[in-house]
Amino acid sequence: MMHEVSLRAYAKINLLLDITEKLPNGYHALHMIMQSVGLFDEVTLARGERSIECDDPSVPTDSRNIAWKAADAFAEATGADCAGTRILLKKHIPSAAGLAGGSADGAAVLTGLNLLYETHLTAEALCRIGAKVGADIPFCLTGGTRLALNIGDVLAPLPPLENVTIVLAKPARGVSTKEAYAAFDDARDVSHVRLPSLLFDAAKGDWSRVFSRTCNTFEQFVEVPERVPIKTVMRRNGCTFSMMSGSGPTVFGVFPTRGAAEACAQQLRAIVPDVFVCDPVPCGVQVMQ
Ligand code: ATP
Repeated sequence: MMHEVSLRAYAKINLLLDITEKLPNGYHALHMIMQSVGLFDEVTLARGERSIECDDPSVPTDSRNIAWKAADAFAEATGADCAGTRILLKKHIPSAAGLAGGSADGAAVLTGLNLLYETHLTAEALCRIGAKVGADIPFCLTGGTRLALNIGDVLAPLPPLENVTIVLAKPARGVSTKEAYAAFDDARDVSHVRLPSLLFDAAKGDWSRVFSRTCNTFEQFVEVPERVPIKTVMRRNGCTFSMMSGSGPTVFGVFPTRGAAEACAQQLRAIVPDVFVCDPVPCGVQVMQ
């Protein structure tokens, strides 16, 4: 029997994020293309007294933590006696950044509990549990490059985004995802992309054509003052594409070479506090031991 499991929980960026409508149950229907990137939190689960320990004091360590909610949802769905699980979170993904840091941790907890308690749930079963906890969790469970529809729970694989380097620039002030959706509900004349033709290009792996027409709806009404200066620096350094991720405030740039990405990151550090250079990765959660 396993007593401990360590996992990497990878951040994501949105190569498309279109909110199509508010559903009667209060959720929002989405069209998303998601990409896992090589920035990760370290998540360790161990049998012991129920607790969460986290090295980032701004992250709650009680029932508000997404890792805790994921453990509750897992226990409810499986009946597994996992109330006594210690969860250790070593955060590297900034919070409230649009990078799904909390959702990635939640996905790692579901994956880890399934191993620790030998419950042998299928990927689909984990996905259904995850969707109840957060819209980005189903994607984070599998990761890579995926189309995500509905409330994030309908997923399909896409050809990988390869041979590029990603720069993430996170302005100091976080954005509350809840408030960002409330801004969408109040907004008028939101423009959308035509998914079928975008998918035609994405399914071929023609990312430059996708980048020429994709959007993040949140850019139309979430105010991030640093967004334009970040994009300007990225463009001057030869990025192929830049856009805000999730509900912000992180802006990412896609670069053809590591060298160009590093040079850009250096300049961005004068504008924003958190800048990361990473590669696209093919999974959302990686079991380390
Ligand atoms: P998304 O892109 O899914 O909207 P995000 O990057 O904007 O995610 P998170 O990092 O998931 O946002 O965190 C949002 C809020 O959730 C934060 O205010 C934080 O206090 C809380 N939170 C709960 N659990 C966690 C966790 N494990 N890690 C980080 N934040 C967490």
